Amino acid sequence: MEKRIVILGAGESGIGAAMLAQKQGCEVFVSDSGAIAPGYKETLERLNIPFEELQHTMVLLLNATEVIKSPGIPEHASVIKQIRANGIPVVSEIEFAKRYTHAKTICITGSNGKTTTTMLTYHILKKAGLNVGLAGNIGHSFAAQVATETFDWYVLEISSFMLDDMYDFKADIAVLLNITPDHLDRYDYQMEKYAASKIRIIQNQTASDYFIYCADDEEIINALNSTNIQAIKYPFSILKEVEKGACLAGNDLQININPQNQFTMSITELALQGKHNIYNSMASGIVAKILDIRNLTIRESMRDMRNIEHRLEHVAIISGVEYINDSKATNVNSTWYALESMSTKVVLIMGGVDKGNDYSMLKELVKDKVKAIVCLGKNNKAIHKAFDNDVDIIVNTFSAVEAVQVAYHLAKKGDTVLLSPACASFDLFQSYEDRGNQFKIAVKEL
Ligand code: ADP
Repeated sequence: MEKRIVILGAGESGIGAAMLAQKQGCEVFVSDSGAIAPGYKETLERLNIPFEELQHTMVLLLNATEVIKSPGIPEHASVIKQIRANGIPVVSEIEFAKRYTHAKTICITGSNGKTTTTMLTYHILKKAGLNVGLAGNIGHSFAAQVATETFDWYVLEISSFMLDDMYDFKADIAVLLNITPDHLDRYDYQMEKYAASKIRIIQNQTASDYFIYCADDEEIINALNSTNIQAIKYPFSILKEVEKGACLAGNDLQININPQNQFTMSITELALQGKHNIYNSMASGIVAKILDIRNLTIRESMRDMRNIEHRLEHVAIISGVEYINDSKATNVNSTWYALESMSTKVVLIMGGVDKGNDYSMLKELVKDKVKAIVCLGKNNKAIHKAFDNDVDIIVNTFSAVEAVQVAYHLAKKGDTVLLSPACASFDLFQSYEDRGNQFKIAVKEL
């Protein structure tokens, strides 16, 4: 019988999955409960792939052999419940696409730093001349590339939502950067469930695969204690020495997985600065060493890597005040690293959609470095409650322009105005990119 593949969600991953499924000779149907973007609709029409938008017609879905679900659709959505009740298997686009490629995969996950580490790893591999693609939560869909490209390697940014629908997939090299609270609304507010999802990055790995992880992260260490790991393990740490992996010796980042050919580089030379980026660079560096890339190439790549938009991005210096856009900091932990890397007094713009945040971990840094908080969100009660005793000035604002103007008046020469919200953006903005862009425009208009 011909396979009928139903694709839920017509975004980048869904459209790619539809292209690949069609190429494999499956009958394909795409269904989206929202409006489909015009560009994606054109692709579906051009390929003669049937689709619906603004609805899910259950009779057209429940005859599927398999469902490919966008990572954005939660398990409790009624459409998923009905599909599950009918016993139809549900997989992610990544799981589906991997069946049709022999390319090796480097899979990067964690609560924070995924995009940065994925881009840095890709940058090093490209510079070393490997035939490598970039996909996952980033850029073009993995499935679309599997349908049209012939890469030997892929660097894949993998989210926990993707991992939840991955079963037979195996990473040749798995990277786990950290596990800190995020998206807990999708995991019944249980940290163990979220951690278990992240640990799936090593599922199906064998003794000839690699697992790179942060040895300073307690959640990771706890989760690994109860996990059977087959792969070769390479930890990285900035707090202690590691026998085989990456660590610091004074100001030097060292990677010692091959005793005959150790990699060393001063952290002052890294293009991506800040403690969090030492971790990210260690992880990427270990991947590069596993692939036997020359030390010189790794060093050059780490030196000339360009900073990524919306991640501690320098915007401007106005009247002696630096403005930094860290709009991608959508959880408390990433804001912690942003504040940690500041060497001046800070006017902090934060707030938005709170995913069950515990602000207590920011308290010390806020007391130490933050002179004023400018809230940028519809509901700022939790921020006032958390910091009322630590910061003299906490102001509510409701647009990027208003936030920037208030921050401008509060900051003095030598200070930094940092947008690092610790929250998602959907109350006042379309996305974190929209929030960052509006911030940058507002700064440039000062
Ligand atoms: P992700 O793709 O996992 O969301 P990004 O690379 O886009 O991660 O970085 C998001 C934010 O998290 C950045 O703005 C930065 O401040 C912070 N960050 C980056 N790397 C790390 C890390 N290793 N640990 C903690 N925070 C990090």
